[in-house]
Amino acid sequence: MTGELILIVEDEDKIAAVMSDYLQSAGCRTHRLADGLGVMDWLRKNSPDLVMLDLMLPGRDGLTICREIRRESAVPIIMITARIEEGDRLAGFESGVDDYICKPFSPREVVARATALLRRTKGEVRPVSGDRLVLDRASFRAMANGVEVALTALEFELLSALMAAPGRIFSRDEIMDRVYRDFRIVNDRTIDSHIRKLRRKLDRLQLVEGPLRSVYGAGYKFEYGQ
Ligand code: CA
Repeated sequence: MTGELILIVEDEDKIAAVMSDYLQSAGCRTHRLADGLGVMDWLRKNSPDLVMLDLMLPGRDGLTICREIRRESAVPIIMITARIEEGDRLAGFESGVDDYICKPFSPREVVARATALLRRTKGEVRPVSGDRLVLDRASFRAMANGVEVALTALEFELLSALMAAPGRIFSRDEIMDRVYRDFRIVNDRTIDSHIRKLRRKLDRLQLVEGPLRSVYGAGYKFEYGQ
C-alpha cells in the first residue's frame, strides 16, 4: 500500500494503536477516532480510502455509522467485531459493510484484509444507497439515487469546493480563487453560468432539495437536503 488514508474508529486504545502501527508500517496513513460521534464530520472533510469500524462503540454503534456513511459515501468499510454470528454478519452486509475482521485478530490479518479490499475496490464506481450526493473524482461524476451525471472538470472542482464546507457561503471571488486557479477565468458572470449548468445537471439526480443555493448578494453555498 502506498499512502492510502485509513480511518480507524475504535474505542479501545490498545487495539487502535496496534492496527494503526501495522497499517502504517505497510505504507498507509492512518487517523484514529475513539467514538462514533465525529465520524461523519471527519469523513466529509477528508476522503479516506478505507474505514476500519468497530461494531461496539460509545455514542453510536458501528452498524448505525455504517448506514450513515453509505448514505453519502462508497468508501470501503471493514467492520471490526467480536460478534461472529451469521445474522449479525448479514445485517452488516446489508448495511454496507464490505468485510469483517473478528476480534481477537492478528495485525497481519488486518493488513492483508485492508490490502485485499483496497485492491478490489480501486477505481470502481460503487453505488450509494441513499439520496446523498457523492462525487467520484476518478471519473468526474456526481451520483445520487442510483443516477450518475458526468461533469466537466470545472464543474467538478466547483462542486467539490462548495461541498467541502456545507453551509458556508462562498463569494464569487472566493470561488474564483479556489476553482479557477487551473482554469481561465473571464468574470463573475461566468461563475453564474457554470453554476446554472451544474444545477441543471444536478436536477437529474432527483435530490430532495437542490443542494446548490445562491445567497442573494453574497454568493453560493452547498447544503445537504434533509
Ligand atoms: Ca469497542
